[in-house]
Amino acid sequence: MDFKEKIRVIPDFPHPGIRFKDITTLLKDGPSYKAAINQLADQLKGKQIDVIVGPEARGFVVGAPLAYALEIGFVPVRKAGKLPAETVEANYSLEYGKDALAIHKDAIQPGQKVLIADDLLATGGTISATLDLVRQLGGQPIGLAFLIELTYLNGRDKLKELDIVSLVQY
Ligand code: AMP
Repeated sequence: MDFKEKIRVIPDFPHPGIRFKDITTLLKDGPSYKAAINQLADQLKGKQIDVIVGPEARGFVVGAPLAYALEIGFVPVRKAGKLPAETVEANYSLEYGKDALAIHKDAIQPGQKVLIADDLLATGGTISATLDLVRQLGGQPIGLAFLIELTYLNGRDKLKELDIVSLVQY
């Protein structure tokens, strides 16, 4: 299936010069959404994964159905201040300014093998902060899964030791 055809590219959003990859056009097409998740799941079959971690909000849209397909658990990572129980936090830089992500302290047991899923790998900043959270809890990150990878931003270079799967590359 040609997933690229289903992804809408919006020029100059949210800032001039950014070509925003809008996955809502893929998500609303049931067979395409299902095929995308199944294709990622197929690429991950045979790997030992205990839990999938996904950062809000689009990491939920990819991570949760992937966890369901692989019959493993899903753990949400949210912006700091949103999760109700005890958390650990990690700061990260955005294009403009800084932000913090959080995970529940008891979400991952030490030694658990973790796959991180998100919609898109750009610079790798969000994923690096998510990896930091997983490591703070003693989890063992074993791989990353994305619908989209912007290869020209070289996010992979920051994430060398991890297996990365992506469906569509720009
Ligand atoms: P980064 O931390 O730079 O890897 O980017 C992380 C998040 O920002 C991704 O998970 C996307 O949700 C969003 N993002 C960054 N660049 C784009 C883009 N060109 N189109 C759509 N979403 C983007």
